[in-house]
Amino acid sequence: MKYELKVAHLYGDLLNTYGDNGNLLALNYYAKMMDTKLDIQIVSLDDQFVAKDWDIVFFGGGQDYEQTIVSRDLQNKKAELTSYIEDGGPLLAICGGYQLLGHYYVGANGEKISGIGALDHYTLSQDDNRFIGDIVIKNQETGETYHGFENHNGKTYLGKDERPLGKVVTGNGNNGEDESEGVIYKNVYGSYFHGPILTRNGNLAKRILLTALHRRYPDADLSAQEALKIEPTF
Ligand code: GLN
Repeated sequence: MKYELKVAHLYGDLLNTYGDNGNLLALNYYAKMMDTKLDIQIVSLDDQFVAKDWDIVFFGGGQDYEQTIVSRDLQNKKAELTSYIEDGGPLLAICGGYQLLGHYYVGANGEKISGIGALDHYTLSQDDNRFIGDIVIKNQETGETYHGFENHNGKTYLGKDERPLGKVVTGNGNNGEDESEGVIYKNVYGSYFHGPILTRNGNLAKRILLTALHRRYPDADLSAQEALKIEPTF
């Protein structure tokens, strides 16, 4: 294949709620169509994360126990992850991973779990309730509709410079109050969608891959990759 991208799977051995790792299978599927080979490696506890080594980062969801363990280790990766994000590196974060990129997450037992504040959101817990069910959102900028399944206790509130991934059409989204779901900040996409999000929303996979290809191969003619048509699959 003509191109190669390196994908860091953050805590892939600890965070994989509801098959979030399927996002990597989907990414690989679309990458092949784009003449691109993915080299996917898990970066977990005590591993160093070096921003310049990676073209795409994937950070899946987890339950509170795993999130607490990851939260501690993540502080050691905070500086490099923040610089990766600020430099425009593409990153997809689902549920627990999305929460930990923000300032903090209050777990179901009331414990405050630190994020890294690379993004400006924070997450509170709901008393005796989870948002569970099918969800549909529409991205206000591209007009794309995304389909998924949400299952979370956390209620996330976006900060300044953060746009939602979409406006809720059906379901609860970030907090059940402001009709927002997920986040976009630079080339970071965060979401509560399991399902996994990329298997049902191939256009998002294409967007992430294209961003990564343009960064890694700034002089390449990527018109064939840009032209790839992905039919919605829900
Ligand atoms: N523990 C978090 C919550 O319930 C994240 C769960 C998940 O990743 N599905 O909000």
